[in-house]
Amino acid sequence: MSISRRGFLGSAIAASFATTLNTNLYAQELPLPANPFGSGKRPIIICAHNGVNYLDDAFAFLKNGGDTLDAALRVVKGPEDDPNDDSVGLGGLPNEECVVELDACCMHGPTRRAGSVGGVRNIKNVSLVSKAVMEHTGHVMLVGEGAERFAVAVGFPRENLLTDRSRKIWLLWKEYNSTDDWWGPGLADPNWKPPALPSATPQSELWERRIQRLAEGAAQLGIEPEFRMAAIRRVLSPPTGTIHCSALNDKGEISGCTTTSGLAFKLPGRVGDSPIIGAGCYTDQDVGSAGATGAGEENIKVAGAHTIVENMRRGMSPLEAGMDALQRIVRNYNHDMTKLNFLDMTYYVLRKDGAYAGVSLWEGYSEKEKHSIAVHDGIRRMETTVALFKGPSHEFPPFPVKVPDELKKNSVYVK
Ligand code: ASP
Repeated sequence: MSISRRGFLGSAIAASFATTLNTNLYAQELPLPANPFGSGKRPIIICAHNGVNYLDDAFAFLKNGGDTLDAALRVVKGPEDDPNDDSVGLGGLPNEECVVELDACCMHGPTRRAGSVGGVRNIKNVSLVSKAVMEHTGHVMLVGEGAERFAVAVGFPRENLLTDRSRKIWLLWKEYNSTDDWWGPGLADPNWKPPALPSATPQSELWERRIQRLAEGAAQLGIEPEFRMAAIRRVLSPPTGTIHCSALNDKGEISGCTTTSGLAFKLPGRVGDSPIIGAGCYTDQDVGSAGATGAGEENIKVAGAHTIVENMRRGMSPLEAGMDALQRIVRNYNHDMTKLNFLDMTYYVLRKDGAYAGVSLWEGYSEKEKHSIAVHDGIRRMETTVALFKGPSHEFPPFPVKVPDELKKNSVYVK
């Protein structure tokens, strides 16, 4: 019986992760610390780490009387416009057919309205489109072709969202995962190698060979040397990535929005949590606002952002409210750490009085890359999130492997 590529990869990855997982199999929950976050001054804006460079402008706008949703949208528009942020908007990593599909939603606290779009192609600023749905339709959510046509009708330009770099990363992913189809070098290629048979070769050596093969493929595809390591990481561990932002003014008005290109190489039509009101974002003018980045499928199942806001309504602090939502994800997996190690989730929580928190399932994507939340309440800063579990979610490389020197050298962007 032939083993499918997906099955083979799954078992190879599972086997090789065993070493890493040993350290996490008995992962203990970290004790809940006293609130490490600021004291809650208004006005305030909180967002995911990739919004930090856009906070100054948005904060000044908010302070000068700008609307809370418009302030939050100013933050998330930055990464949407940035071709180098491949988690959102222009340059977002494409789906498995190499088409960029974007999701976004927003909630305006003062008027208690919401808008959302899912699976949108060819329109860069989908967060603004979600606001247009809120303002110019009697609906809350539009998806796919209808959402794109609506966006064009209200004045958004159609654009090619696929950057050359994202296309090359997709191609590297496509060729790496391809042994049973016609993608990748064929038999006639001088560099063609037969698929490896099961062998006694140690997993670490197999991974080194895979990384070497990917590095060669990346070079052939013309991926810039300093970006090759990052491209390989994306192929081996298709990333998620998103930006959420919540903004609160001095009058206590509050709004939130979330925008993303979703899970890299997803099935066409897959919609994650980001455009789902109550999962990727939820704002209630009476209570506060919350948003999420991370494993969208898991967050939908716990209606994360809504759960957090309701927790705060019942008296929990932002930190407790976020931790409880994480615990619900853990509960959905019956505390199975072997599975939970492959998931990650970060919640951004802002209460109406200005108290806030950032919480995550694990401490980061690796020992060096800790999850963080960006904050501006007069002082712009990054703060580490409070993690439920000690250590990183699945690491890259998955266990100690030697990374070729030429990949480490000049690597400007490792994630
Ligand atoms: N939550 C997003 C999604 O599942 C991805 C992410 O936040 O990283 O589409």
